[in-house]
Amino acid sequence: MRLVLLGLLLIFLSGMTYQIRNHPQIRYNKLLDRIQHPFDTRLRYRIAEVDSRFGLTEHELKQISQQATDIWKDGTGQDYFVYDPQARLSIHLIYDQRQNDSVQRRQQLGHIQQSQQLWSNKNQQLKQFKDELDRNNAELETKKNQLDSQLNQYNQHIAIINQNGGIPAAQREQMTQQQSQLQQQIFVLQQEINIYNQKIQQLNLQVDELNQLNQQIDSSVQSFNQRFQPRLFDKGSFNGQQINIYEFESQDDLRLTLAHEFGHALGLKHNQDPQALMYPLMKEQDLQNFRLSTADIALLQAR
Ligand SMILES: [Zn+2]
Repeated sequence: MRLVLLGLLLIFLSGMTYQIRNHPQIRYNKLLDRIQHPFDTRLRYRIAEVDSRFGLTEHELKQISQQATDIWKDGTGQDYFVYDPQARLSIHLIYDQRQNDSVQRRQQLGHIQQSQQLWSNKNQQLKQFKDELDRNNAELETKKNQLDSQLNQYNQHIAIINQNGGIPAAQREQMTQQQSQLQQQIFVLQQEINIYNQKIQQLNLQVDELNQLNQQIDSSVQSFNQRFQPRLFDKGSFNGQQINIYEFESQDDLRLTLAHEFGHALGLKHNQDPQALMYPLMKEQDLQNFRLSTADIALLQAR
């Protein structure tokens, strides 16, 4: 009887060893689950903890987790995971400095984007202002040339009169009028040139301001890049019993981070494809419409 039991147990154990070799994820299920669902190789998981500061409900996290497991399902046609409120593997959203940093990162990025928008609006305005001044300059140039030729004519006229022994009394009145008209025109043109020069000064001041803004943006971008390196997947972790998430920027980001940690739960290590789920950095992956890369599938097949 004992021998029979021992034999059954050995068969069971060797069966389980076979299962774990081919489906390494089930080692993270409870022993009881493996006995109760001997043919179900899906990894059972549950939601354990959602810090309210993340602004997500447990229900929302459950949905996002299911979407994360769907990434594996859609990419392989196989079901690797199942939600089970009694599961051993638990998901925790733990709030610490990382999420705090992440919020600041988004705020600073928003600030930089606003400044860039402001710069681009001002730049556009200044271009228009400069175009206006260029037209103004051309107009003044024309007026100045016209006035120059009027003055030349007038002076030639005077020279001829002087050669002929002075202005006849009959023309004196007319010449005086012409002279004061020309003086008036010179005065008006001079005023217009003054206004134009003031506008040029304004333009130069505004260009200086714009350049300062540009320098500020440059230094903001530099300090932003120094402070916030590309996001490591260490914003999440998997330790065999828990998936802990410490940081995410959006639900898309959270979904991919969870899917990455689920990948570790499948027994996968990292790969070298920057667009893959199992790449150690999150940077080039398509957050919205992510599909497993061939490098991810290759990891699964090599298990
Ligand atoms: Zn990882």
